[in-house]
This record gives sequence, structure tokens and C-alpha cells, in this order.
Amino acid sequence: MRIDLHTHSAVSDGTDTPTQLVRKAAEEGLDVIGLTDHDTFDGLREARLAAAEAGITVLPGLEMSCKLDGASVHLLGYGCDPHNQPLLDELTRVRVGRTGRLPEMLLKLTDLGMPISEEEIAQHVGGSPSLGRPHVADAMVAKGYVKDRQEAFDKYLYEGGPAYANRYSCDIRRGIELVRRANGVAVIAHPWGRGRDRELTPAVLSELTLEYRLEGVEVDHPDHNQATRQRLRSLAAGLGLLALGSSDHHGLGKVGHALGCETTPVEVYEEIIRRIRQRGGQL
Ligand code: AMP
Ligand code: ZN
Ligand code: FE
Ligand code: FE
Repeated sequence: MRIDLHTHSAVSDGTDTPTQLVRKAAEEGLDVIGLTDHDTFDGLREARLAAAEAGITVLPGLEMSCKLDGASVHLLGYGCDPHNQPLLDELTRVRVGRTGRLPEMLLKLTDLGMPISEEEIAQHVGGSPSLGRPHVADAMVAKGYVKDRQEAFDKYLYEGGPAYANRYSCDIRRGIELVRRANGVAVIAHPWGRGRDRELTPAVLSELTLEYRLEGVEVDHPDHNQATRQRLRSLAAGLGLLALGSSDHHGLGKVGHALGCETTPVEVYEEIIRRIRQRGGQL
């Protein structure tokens, strides 16, 4: 079985509709994908309908924008009840923060000699309820300011970059609690990618596991090199955390994240399913 539990559709900042994403996964020979759009459950219904047709499984997921000591940390939630009000309220708050930061980013881009209007951004957001920097990057590409999303991030949009604006995100401890109370399984996404090992130290991961009931970490992820994977895998084993592997696919929006380029072992997937079922979560 081939299982890729971290993918994005155009309902957040991927480039495929949920239906296109699911069909592509089936063509690539995947048996299961997790749809983990940023801060929204809105793509799940369409993805599941498409999955039934394509003969594969979609594990309902979410990637929640969280923070730890001011640094951005991403939390995956699998099997969450999509009607859980405290979780939905927090997701709304995060999405309002996403839209609210846009004027500041556009001012910065104007100061940098790259004016873009909110209307021009809107063309690239499409129907997504979860506006993100990748959409801003797409508008920059369309205006000819940069050649692709990667250049936009590398030069201007990276955390702390010249066109970056901070936004509200959920405290990671509270995020884990919200996922758990919605009967979901909480997993930290790419914990040691892009320098996050400075904040997510072994001591912090241990605290999140023992006191907040974190259940897993992504180990095999394109942002982790081999040495990082090895250290993280042994830390996860010591803490009893599930070790997942996933592509973090964004369609054409992100190079080096091909669908199925990293996968989760079937035993780990089955354990996730077992826990969701036991709690009465969403499958
Ligand atoms: P936002 O949701 O607005 O914080 O943007 C985060 C999204 O941008 C994530 O989905 C990442 O895939 C992408 N992203 C964040 N940092 C970078 C980076 N340095 N290079 C390329 N993509 C990035
Ligand atoms: Zn993304
Ligand atoms: Fe992420
Ligand atoms: Fe992601």
C-alpha cells in the first residue's frame, strides 16, 4: 500500500482542485492520501466523492497554522470532527488573520517597487477561504516581478523577509488540545524543516507529547535531510510518537514535493485509523 498523508488542494494553496488531486493520486498508484489543506475542512467533501469514484481512500485532515515562541509551527490533525465548534472558531480566527495581513504585505511590496492590488491577488486566490503567501507569490509571477513561487519566497516572502507580514496563528499547545478534543490525531508537520529545530527542541517535543498528548511527527519529509530524519526517528521512538512520511504536495506550486515522493508505513497508517475509530472521529 502507498500512503501519502500530507497534500494540499486549491482549497488552500495547492494548484489542483480536490478532484484533480485525487485522480492524480490514483494515477500515481497511491492507495491513500490525506488531504490537509491549511486551516480549512472545505475541500474534504469533494475529495471524498472523487475518491469513491477513483477507488482510493482520502483520510480527512487539516494543517493548522500554529506558533511556538513566535515561530511558525504547522500542526496536522487527522480524523477531526469537522463540526467541532471550538476548533471551527479557532480556524475562523486564523483565516481572518490571513486576510487581515494582506494590506501590510501589499504596502511592503509597493515600497519595494512591486505594486499589486487586492483585486489582482483575488484572481489567484480563486475560491480558497485560506489566503496565503503562495497566492501573493502567484500574483507577483503574473505581474512579472519574479519567475516563480520559489523566487518570490526566497527573495521577499520568507518569514521575516522584506515583504513578510506576521499574522495570527494558534498557540501550538492549544492547537494540539483543540485537535484532540475534536477526536483527531495530532501530528507536528515537518518539525525540523527550515530551522524549526531551534524552537521544537527535544525537550519541547517531549513536553508536547507527555503533557498535551501529541501523537506523531513527520519524519520523512522533503524539508528534512537524512541526518535530521535519523535523529528525529530515534527521538520519536523514544517518546512513543508515530513517525509519518509525506510529500506535502502543492501541485505545481512547490517543487520537490511530488505526490507520493515520501510515504507513511502501513502499520503507522493503520494505528492512526484505529485511534480515530476508537475516539469516534471522522473517517
Ligand atoms: P502562509 O500560509 O501564508 O504562511 O504561507 C505558507 C505556505 O507557503 C506554506 O504552504 C509553504 O508551503 C509555503 N512556504 C512557506 N515558506 C516557504 C519558503 N521559504 N519557500 C517556499 N514555500 C514556502
Ligand atoms: Zn501550503
Ligand atoms: Fe506546512
Ligand atoms: Fe503542508
